[in-house]
Amino acid sequence: MLDLSTPIEKLTRVGSRNMPQLRKLGIHTVKDLLWHFPHRYEDYSRITPIAKLNKDEVANVQGRVVKIETQRSWKKRLTIVQAIIEDDSAATRAVWFNQPYLTESLPLESVVSLAGKVKLDKHGLYLASPSYERITTRTEQEGLTHTGRLVPIYPETSGITSKYLRFLIRPLLALDNNLLDPLPPAINQKYGFPSLGQAVKSLHFPVKKEEMELAKKRISFDELLLFQLKSIASRRKISKLKALAIPFQAENIKKLTATLPFELTADQKLSAFEILKDLEKPYPMNRLLNGDVGSGKTIVALLAAYAAARHGCQTVFLAPTEILAQQHYATIKSLLNVKLKAKSEKEEISIGLLTGNEAKQWPVDEITNEEISKKLMREKIAHGEIKIVIGTHAVIQKEVRFKDLALVVIDEQHRFGVEQRKALMNQESEIRNQEKESPITHDSKFIIPHLLSMTATPIPRTLALTIYGDLDISLIKEKPYNRKKIVTKVINQTVKQKAYEFIDEEINKGRQVFVICPKIDPADQALSNKLYAISKAKNKNQESLPLKTYSLKQQIWAEVKAVTEEYEKLTKTVFPHRRIAMLHGKMKPLEKERIMSGFKNGQYDLLVATSVVEVGIDIPNASVMLIENAERFGLAQLHQFRGRVGRAEHQSYCLLINGGSQSRSKNIEDPRFTESKSGQYENRRLKALEANDDGFALAEQDLVLRGPGEFIGTKQSGLPDLAMASLTDLDLIKKARLEAKLLLKEDPSLKKYPLLKAQLTQFQKIRHFE
Ligand code: ADP
Ligand code: MG
Repeated sequence: MLDLSTPIEKLTRVGSRNMPQLRKLGIHTVKDLLWHFPHRYEDYSRITPIAKLNKDEVANVQGRVVKIETQRSWKKRLTIVQAIIEDDSAATRAVWFNQPYLTESLPLESVVSLAGKVKLDKHGLYLASPSYERITTRTEQEGLTHTGRLVPIYPETSGITSKYLRFLIRPLLALDNNLLDPLPPAINQKYGFPSLGQAVKSLHFPVKKEEMELAKKRISFDELLLFQLKSIASRRKISKLKALAIPFQAENIKKLTATLPFELTADQKLSAFEILKDLEKPYPMNRLLNGDVGSGKTIVALLAAYAAARHGCQTVFLAPTEILAQQHYATIKSLLNVKLKAKSEKEEISIGLLTGNEAKQWPVDEITNEEISKKLMREKIAHGEIKIVIGTHAVIQKEVRFKDLALVVIDEQHRFGVEQRKALMNQESEIRNQEKESPITHDSKFIIPHLLSMTATPIPRTLALTIYGDLDISLIKEKPYNRKKIVTKVINQTVKQKAYEFIDEEINKGRQVFVICPKIDPADQALSNKLYAISKAKNKNQESLPLKTYSLKQQIWAEVKAVTEEYEKLTKTVFPHRRIAMLHGKMKPLEKERIMSGFKNGQYDLLVATSVVEVGIDIPNASVMLIENAERFGLAQLHQFRGRVGRAEHQSYCLLINGGSQSRSKNIEDPRFTESKSGQYENRRLKALEANDDGFALAEQDLVLRGPGEFIGTKQSGLPDLAMASLTDLDLIKKARLEAKLLLKEDPSLKKYPLLKAQLTQFQKIRHFE
C-alpha cells in the first residue's frame, strides 16, 4: 500500500541511481513528489496532420510506424534512428540520435504520437529528436503522458528529466483518494475550487489551461491561508505578553517637536502617532516603520524613545554598522541638545553610544568626559543611568544588561541577511531574557520590550499582507518638503566623457560624488581576450567559438566594471587632480569605516565603491551618484543607491550607465533585456527608474518585473513556490486573509478542522527552523 508518507525508495520506478538525485530536488516521500509541480507546460495538445507540417514549427503528429532503422556513423560516433511515420494525410521522417533502443520501443506498425521541432534537410521535412509515445489501448483510456497534450515540464536536476518525473508521477495520481483535504469544504465551495486531489492532478496533467490555472489558485490559496493563520496566531500570542505601557505624553512630544529645525511631514506625524499609541498598550508593539530612503525615520523613532525616557525607562537603538550607530548618536544628541539648553536639568535625557570601538555619553557630568570606557558605559546602562542607548547590535547583544528596557529600535533591518536576521531574532530574545532575569526591574519577570523595526526597502502591499502579515506597518511615503527631485538619466558608455566633465564641475562647486561598480576585481584577462575573439568572429559572420569553459555568469561578469580597475582609471587619467577613495567588501571593517567617515567628513571628493556603500548613511553634501553597469543591479537596489544623494537642498543627479546595450550579444538570454522597437536592448528597470522616484511604486514594478522569488529570495520568505508565485495576486491574498480571520473567529483553536490545525502546527515549526 502506498500513501503520501511512503518514502520514494519504496517506489518500483525509483532506482538507487535516481534516489540521491531526487533527494537533491527535495523529494523524499510520495507527497514531495506529488508536490513537485511543473514550472511550465509544453503545449502539444493540437495534433497536426502530417501533410500540414511547416518548417521550424513545433508540432505533434500521430501515425503508424511504417519503417524504422538504425544507422551508425563511426566518424561522428553516433547511432542514428530514422523512422517513417504515416497518417491519413501523408508520411514524414523522425530522426533521433544515440537512442538505439527506439527500434524496440517503437516497432513497425505500432501507432505512435510524436512531438518536436520540424526541420528541413535535403530529403525534405522531418521531426528532429521528437518526444515519443506509443498509443495503446491503455493510453487511449488514460490519456497520453509525454505528447498529445499539455505536457508538464518540471524543475530538473542531472539525471532527473521531466520525462522521468512524468513517468514517476503519473501512476501516483491514482492515489488522489488518499489526499485528505484540509481546507474546510465551505471555503472550497465558496470560491469554486477543485478538491485537493483534483487540483494536484490538474496541475500535473491538465486537459485545459484554465483547469490548470484554477488548480494553481487552489493550492496557492491553501498556502496563503496557512500564512495568514500563522500571522493571526502570532499576533494573538504577542497580545498575551506583557510590556510596559508608556503613557501618551502629548505635551512632552509637542515640546520636543517644537524645537526641531524642521517641520515633520504628515506621514512622519501619523507614523509617530501610531507608534506612540502602540506604546500605550500593556502588550509589546511589533511594528515595522517603512519609509523610503531619506524620508526621516530616525526622528520618528526618536520620538518613541523620548516618550519612553520621559516615562523613566530605557530604549536601545540598534544599527547594523558602527558608522551608522555614530551617525544616530550625533543626530539624536543634536536633536535633544536644543531641548537641553532650554530646559532645566531635571528634564535632561541621557544618551549613550556603545560600539566595538568606543563609548560616549551625553550629557557629561562633572567627573566624566563625553568619551568613557566601554565598561563604565555598561555599568551606567545596567543602572538605568543612560536612557537611550545607541549601538551596534553585535556589541549590545553580547555585553549589555539593562535596568528597565522598554523599547528596542532596529534600524535598517532589511540590511540583515537571512543568517544575520536569525541572529537578530536570537538577540532580541536574549535582550528579552535578560530583561526577564533582571532582579532589579519592577514587576520585571514577564515584561517584554516593545519592538520597532525600520527599513528603507519599500514593501509592496501584497508582501506586507503576507510575509510581513504579523507586523503592524507604518508608512512614510512622502519626503521632507525641502527636497528637490533627483535628476535621473540612463546614459551610454559613449557619452561618459561628458558625464565626467559634469562631475568635475560639481566637485568644483564643492559637492561630492559616488561612483558605484558591480564588482571588485578586473575581469579574468584570458576570458576578456576570448570574448574579444568571439565578438570579432561574429562581426565576420563566422560561427562563434565554443565557450564551454566559461559559464554564462562568468561571461557576463567579465564585461562588468570592476572597482579596482575603475579606481585606477579615475585617479590616474580622469580626475588626477581630485581626492578619490575606494570602498569594497573585501576591505577590513575598520578600513571601511575609516573611508566612509572620511568621505562623510569631506576628506574625499569622490568615492568609488561596490554595493557595500553604506545604506542609511547621510551625506548631505553628495550630489552625484554614477552607477556603472547599472543593468546589473535590481531596481530596489538602484533606488537605494540613488537615495545616497539628494539628502539636502542641493540639486542632485543619478547617472545610470547602461553597459548592457552594446556589449551583450543577443544569444545570451537574459530576461531583463527586452527588445524595443528600435531593435536595441533596453533595460526596462533603468527606464522605470528614470521615470519614477517613488520607491513604493518602483518596488511594485520590481516585484512584477523580477517575480516574487527573485524579489525577496525564495529561501528568505519561507514561502512554498506556488504561494510565492501568487504573491502578486492581491485578490487571492485578500481572500485568504478574510477566510483566515473568519475561520479563527468561528473556531479559535481550529477544533473542527484538525487537518488544517495539524498543517498549521507543521508550518509554524518549519518557519521556526528557517
Ligand atoms: P532615513 O529615513 O533614510 O533614515 P533620516 O532619518 O536619516 O532618513 O533623515 C534624513 C535627513 O532628513 C536627516 O538629515 C534628517 O535630519 C532630515 N529630516 C528628517 N525629517 C525631516 C523633515 N520633516 N524636514 C526636513 N528634513 C528632515
Ligand atoms: Mg536611516
